[in-house]
Amino acid sequence: MPLIMIEQSILEITSDLSKANRIVIVPHKGPDGDAIGSTLGLYHFLKDKGHDVVVISPNDYPQFLKWLPGQENILIYENQREHCNSLINNAEIIFTLDFNMLDRTGEMAEPLAAAEATIVMIDHHPEPSDYADHTYSDAGMSSTCQMVYKFIQKLRGLKSITPEIATCLYTGIMTDTGSFKYRSVTSDTHVVVADLIAKGADNTLIHQKIYDTYSENRLKLLGIALQNLVVIREYKTAYITLSQEELDENNFQKGDTEGFVNFGLSIEGVVLAVIFIEHKQDGLIKMSLRSKGDFSVNELARAHFSGGGHLNAAGGKSDLSLEETVQKFNHILPEYIHELSNREL
Ligand code: 5GP
Ligand code: MN
Repeated sequence: MPLIMIEQSILEITSDLSKANRIVIVPHKGPDGDAIGSTLGLYHFLKDKGHDVVVISPNDYPQFLKWLPGQENILIYENQREHCNSLINNAEIIFTLDFNMLDRTGEMAEPLAAAEATIVMIDHHPEPSDYADHTYSDAGMSSTCQMVYKFIQKLRGLKSITPEIATCLYTGIMTDTGSFKYRSVTSDTHVVVADLIAKGADNTLIHQKIYDTYSENRLKLLGIALQNLVVIREYKTAYITLSQEELDENNFQKGDTEGFVNFGLSIEGVVLAVIFIEHKQDGLIKMSLRSKGDFSVNELARAHFSGGGHLNAAGGKSDLSLEETVQKFNHILPEYIHELSNREL
């Protein structure tokens, strides 16, 4: 069951916001469009209300988001720990957006846990942990951006949504829903998106800025990823691997592999798609998992790859080699034979 923020929390936050000035907003490590869109949307809203607001991201974010209004003011924790720690220590309210466990912020988890500020979680991942003073969690929402819109609505602030806020929130809803096609999209999502367009989000321009941004290197890397595609019909599964060498040869930039996993899922009859990406520097293989129907990649990632996420989109990692990780994946597939092979689409 989604845990919806109780009205009492809204009253308390409203009261806190009428006094507090120093506000920090934090997305998860490796932030995506929803994480950056939601933090910046809330940033503009609170800043416009006169608060002293700063967004601190645990690490850098993809190039395709580096045009969003206000992104130039985002602080990167890895690059200036001391300054960020002092902002966290002095904050009166800290909003944590688009994640449900503090350790999703990497090394920021420690200063955040020690902070004296009131902590507010706004997030749409299932099974939230209870680190926040106010938890606004709703796994029925398409995106954290849709929730920030709802949060602003609860604060009676819809009239204050500027084109900048609308642009940030539209971007996150669009990227987290595969451009409004996932099952998480409801009629309410479209009502929200319609209002964001009415309030100044330029939908065509946003699509272009996010999706029509391939560099030649990125397109070549996609070619290699597709060459490496393996389809296992028996398990209705497709996977892609990318080694560090392949990334290096194509001048890999953060965000370049975003969306590659979806090509596996676009094969007719495939229910489960995975991409394994080697990160030599971290000694890790990072995985993105996607599924169709009610096959839970959240469960698979939690059970076997120290990860998690949503029913149809999850992430995970492994400290084995690339080959060993793929081998491990192949070994666990039989565990899911019934769930995968009996799947009717
Ligand atoms: P992506 O594959 O795009 O990195 O992530 C898909 C979804 O899974 C996102 O909602 C993301 O928040 C979640 N996710 C990705 N990596 C992890 C992880 O290591 N742990 C958990 N709990 N969730 C993750
Ligand atoms: Mn999200």
